[in-house]
Amino acid sequence: MKILAVNAGSSSLKFTLIELPEKNVVASGLFEKIGISGSCYTIKYNGEKIKKEVNLVDHSVAVRILMEELINMGIISSLDEIEGVGHRMVHGGQEFTESVVLTEDVLDRVAKYNELAPLHNPANIMGVKAFMKALPNTIQVGVFDTAFHTTMKEAEYLYPVPYEWYEKYGVRKYGFHGTSHRFINKTISEYFGRNDLKVISCHIGNGGSITAIDSGKVVDTSMGFTPLAGIMMGTRSGDIDASMLSYLAGKTGKSLEELTNDLNKKSGLLGVSGVSSDSRDVEMAADEGNERAILAQEMYAKKIANYIAMYNNLLGGADVITLTAGVGENSKTMRKSIIEKIASLGVKIDDERNDFRGEFRLISTDDSKIPVYVVPTDEELMIAMDTMELKNKNN
Ligand code: ADP
Repeated sequence: MKILAVNAGSSSLKFTLIELPEKNVVASGLFEKIGISGSCYTIKYNGEKIKKEVNLVDHSVAVRILMEELINMGIISSLDEIEGVGHRMVHGGQEFTESVVLTEDVLDRVAKYNELAPLHNPANIMGVKAFMKALPNTIQVGVFDTAFHTTMKEAEYLYPVPYEWYEKYGVRKYGFHGTSHRFINKTISEYFGRNDLKVISCHIGNGGSITAIDSGKVVDTSMGFTPLAGIMMGTRSGDIDASMLSYLAGKTGKSLEELTNDLNKKSGLLGVSGVSSDSRDVEMAADEGNERAILAQEMYAKKIANYIAMYNNLLGGADVITLTAGVGENSKTMRKSIIEKIASLGVKIDDERNDFRGEFRLISTDDSKIPVYVVPTDEELMIAMDTMELKNKNN
């Protein structure tokens, strides 16, 4: 069956058409600058890529054009061939603990969490509504970034702040990248043929998070109330001392919103190196001797290593460490640097095994106390698989 996996942002819409159970990507593409001037779309199919510039006033227009192109390009012969649409939804609060069939009522419940993810949730909902209109008889499924993390216990998800902040305002750790961590846990657990693994899953891309998983359940994760927390990222600071905000507000005259924006968009690798948020650029600058780039690389690897060590303790000793996403899958330099910083756990990198990118592979030595694997993530596939499962259940 063909399933569409969709990720709708405020001005973009990414899609992947996947054939299941074969797991083949039939076509994929991106609609960009929706509602902004210069809008366009690209569709990849059969080894070819088309790009067209059109006026995309809103998500509904993008979806209508997508449906027309899927047929015109011969990717499908009728819209009925799309048997389900799975949507990446960022925030499901504490309420959505797994993927769900989306109806108008369910969307109203999801909208309650818009305040917690103001940039993402309203856009996700807009995307779903556009597909509901275009494919009214097709099952629409919501797959939440937060859902996998809802197994965390109070002692992990609460902040040591006045309790009523949690009770009245929902301030707690929610965690993100859940779909990726769930996919990684599923892949590595199937590989080991075990469902009781203790996994430290490191999703290190432009955004990044580390998750401690025991027997398929999240024990703790590094992102928090928002994706700003945890490890240092491309442009996000990760964990900081919150008092610097009021101090900086006084010093700079910036508002809390502006400072929070700086922490999200101007910090991390970019902020420290002054070079770029892309680890490839920072690596290159570091190789050329740029001291701030070297410092940024060092800090980046240290923050990740520290979380791994902390989660190893929390899990009472991990069975496996996995690395994924843009940096984890592709940067042998960063992988080596991280693993060298957890030497106290008896973890050792094998340089020959580590010399590759983008595949499922063991990169630690045979005598490493904890094996380390690179496991490419595939959130779209996970979304499509959840959608197929719910479709089969609801038939
Ligand atoms: P996200 O989904 O969070 O936007 P990705 O997982 O796609 O991010 O990761 C993107 C990041 O991966 C880039 O910013 C870059 O830093 C890093 N990256 C991608 N390819 C490489 C590579 N070959 N070497 C080093 N880093 C890479």
